[in-house]
Amino acid sequence: MESLEGIPVSEGVAAGRVFVLDDLSARIVRRPIAPDQTEEEIARFERAREAAVEDLRHVHERAKAEIGEDAARIFLVHLGMLQDSALIEPVRDKIRTEHIAAESAVSEVFRMWGDRFRSMNEVAFTTKADDVRDLADRVLERLVGARRSRLAEIGMNAIVIARDLTPSQAVNLDKNKVLAFVTDLGGRTSHTAIVAKALGLPAVVGCRRASELAIDGESVIVDGHRGRVILSPDEETAEQYKEYAEQRRRFRVSLGELASLEAVTPDGHRIELLGNIEFPEEAASVVEVGGGGVGLYRTEFLYLTSDHEPSEEEHYEAYAKCIELLDGLPLTIRTVDLGADKYTQQRVEQPERNPFLGCRSIRYCLRSLPMFKTQLRAILRASSLGPVKLMFPLISGVEEFRQARLYVRDVMEDLRESGVDFDPDIAIGMMVETPSAAVIADMFAREADFFSIGSNDLIQYTIAVDRTNEQVAHLYDPHHPAVIRLIRQIVDAGRRNDIPVSICGESASIPEYALLLMGLGLRTLSATASALPNLKRVVRGVPMHRCEQIARKAFTLDSAAQISGYLRDQARQLVPEAFDGRSVEA
Ligand code: PEP
Ligand code: MG
Repeated sequence: MESLEGIPVSEGVAAGRVFVLDDLSARIVRRPIAPDQTEEEIARFERAREAAVEDLRHVHERAKAEIGEDAARIFLVHLGMLQDSALIEPVRDKIRTEHIAAESAVSEVFRMWGDRFRSMNEVAFTTKADDVRDLADRVLERLVGARRSRLAEIGMNAIVIARDLTPSQAVNLDKNKVLAFVTDLGGRTSHTAIVAKALGLPAVVGCRRASELAIDGESVIVDGHRGRVILSPDEETAEQYKEYAEQRRRFRVSLGELASLEAVTPDGHRIELLGNIEFPEEAASVVEVGGGGVGLYRTEFLYLTSDHEPSEEEHYEAYAKCIELLDGLPLTIRTVDLGADKYTQQRVEQPERNPFLGCRSIRYCLRSLPMFKTQLRAILRASSLGPVKLMFPLISGVEEFRQARLYVRDVMEDLRESGVDFDPDIAIGMMVETPSAAVIADMFAREADFFSIGSNDLIQYTIAVDRTNEQVAHLYDPHHPAVIRLIRQIVDAGRRNDIPVSICGESASIPEYALLLMGLGLRTLSATASALPNLKRVVRGVPMHRCEQIARKAFTLDSAAQISGYLRDQARQLVPEAFDGRSVEA
């Protein structure tokens, strides 16, 4: 038995048989050809490339049907890349000048691009490297034909283990046979991780040497909660996990029953539970689990899954789709939060030295006015279709908020002049996710219509710890007393100025942390749809006066470890059922 640790990117536990999907490109050797064969070889490359383009069109159609139009757009990006002369000309040149076979030239050129992106050592570029590798494999499959037949051999209950798995490979896995996947490379924000969640397959990435150590056909367990992969588990571990999987199944069934119940504490305090979404289709999942609307729509995913800047109409259609699915429930649209780990092609080409402290989010929008105004027009037009709120990310000073709001007013004026409908009273709020905004939250509370606490960023900027860097991951802790103090300060400022405050960072979905947040005065929590049922269970299980006691006690503790331990103990005593599916420590 061997236990490997990786990054959990998609929940769930699966036990099955290893299916190693090896790296096709690594097996291609440099094959010389006679000089008079070069034109023939270039033609062979062209045929393979065109066939790969055709394959991608089918994959795109299939992905649209399975994971929705927006998520499927990544394949349009791939289509564009495979027709881009920057990528294909060097292949032709190589065949022509170095007299090598088409597959050798493809492998070398694409690998060079992949290595170049990967050496930049940033999530944004690594993701780009994944895309290039995916394309290389597609063309190579057509040239040497090995990998597809390998995938055709896949048996039932397969756990696919690969050095890397590209988005198109992930989406093409046969869901009747594949139970989970594991990759050596990859990070939390890679496109493949997003596809895994959209498909609902447990997945662990960044598992270093998994594909080297795993042996085809051996038994394996994938734990998508803890990011653990157990090769050849012994009987005791296999038994524990069987029980664990059964617990999880019962837990999910029991959570399903909560959808129609109210999120009210036993002493009558109502908590609003909202969903975070990246794609419009996810609004349906929020409604399905009984969410009260969308508290955060990360609209930058419109850019990340497209090969062009989305038009006003594309924005509008996405928002209209959300509004339709939400059927009267509110939609909070956050203006694009590009930059840092969320990039566009243009930004990849102009890297910043310190992108998390650079031109990201609202700063980027305020410097890209036509783009910003296009989105604002679409949001305002959509506001005539249903309840819509608007908020800006990463606000760090009041002038920034005022400036952004001024543009909203400008766009309103234009729309009014053109006789286009919109909601003139649309709520304009802001994310509070920088320490500067938290510290002067009282000043902001006189300007903004509402606050949404972005704890993911607030934690990284408060503790000075990059949220994407695994080297300092142990320091990234929502329980740090400084973070908790800042949250209280934001909530108090909102309360004193009578504006609503919610929280939409990942920490809102941790059951014990939710108790603390409620005790601090938060009445709206926004989290990924799958986390909402368990949060509802927590809300329904603990009276507010207990949450307040817990928050008071947490305030007397001075270390993150103490606070975290205390909260966990309390929550496990008060709502043990919220931890049912997580109680096995294998
Ligand atoms: C946050 O920072 O907490 C947040 C919700 O925004 P994002 O994770 O998209 O940066
Ligand atoms: Mg943020």
